[in-house]
Amino acid sequence: MVKCSFCDKPAVYINRVNNLAYCRQHFTEYFEKKVKKTIRKYRMLGKRENIVVAVSGGKDSMALLYFLWKLSKKNPGWSVSALIIDEGIKNYREYTIRNFLRVNEILKVPYRIASFKEYFGMTLDEMVEEGKKKGLPYLPCAYCGVFRRYLINKVAREMGATVVATAHNMDDVVQTFIMNLAKDTLEKLARSGPVTGVARHEKFVRRIKPFIEVTEKETTIYAILNGLIEPEYYKCPYAEYNIRFKIRKLLNELEEVQPGVKQGLLNSMLGIIESLNSRIKAEEIKTCEICGEPSSHRVCRACQFRMELGLLPRVSFELRREKPAL
Ligand code: SF4
Ligand code: ZN
Repeated sequence: MVKCSFCDKPAVYINRVNNLAYCRQHFTEYFEKKVKKTIRKYRMLGKRENIVVAVSGGKDSMALLYFLWKLSKKNPGWSVSALIIDEGIKNYREYTIRNFLRVNEILKVPYRIASFKEYFGMTLDEMVEEGKKKGLPYLPCAYCGVFRRYLINKVAREMGATVVATAHNMDDVVQTFIMNLAKDTLEKLARSGPVTGVARHEKFVRRIKPFIEVTEKETTIYAILNGLIEPEYYKCPYAEYNIRFKIRKLLNELEEVQPGVKQGLLNSMLGIIESLNSRIKAEEIKTCEICGEPSSHRVCRACQFRMELGLLPRVSFELRREKPAL
């Protein structure tokens, strides 16, 4: 049995980067201290905040909701609520929502569930089927990501959020970094940083990633220790089509051979973002000519998808991709 490096209790986690072992209590202290430091370092939260946590009901978002709920007890100027996006993925999302409801019987945070069906007229499963019928490329994760980001911003704004907190951890952002490198879409990197909202728009709610400096493994242990995970594991049926999961496997293998690879990639990514932001700051986020939401094009990606799927009448517009100067 491996013992904690700080006391005699059994270790629940070994950090292979600093070679320290942590028992339950010392792991909790280590984890919470690290996340609080990230919040301070990037000035994520002020004295008065209406924090809306984007929650899927999975381990990461439940860990974030629990952590911010706990922290809010010591910060009287903060209110914490949850926003759950129900994409409509059968045999998956209903279980994670059930997990959120189970945990929230204890936390009792105000929450709202917003579904693709309610806002766009189709569940994700129906969109995928419609796409197939229309002979469109098979894009479940692209629909899911675009519509989910769109709804998080729109509904959080309706909920009066001053800030939206998302549970992206170090693994998530590093995977996104690699994906952007592979797809030659570095201009999208700006939104992968710890705080998003460098280019201002009155309808854009500032987004923060308090878990950006903790790994998925650490977040998972925190969630397990606090009873935030359902005993059964449910996997999204579309996950196998997402290149992210292959990158995730590869990065875990690299980390196994050389601990610290993910941290190194995160540091590189943050350096590139800093250089990108000095240029992006000067640019305005546009307003979608169809729905009026913030957009990087004349017509936002969600409206483009809605037109392709027959959920909106088609209009013609020009798409121009602007590449950043590094
Ligand atoms: Fe959405 Fe794809 Fe993730 Fe499933 S795997 S939740 S479809 S992004
Ligand atoms: Zn739009």
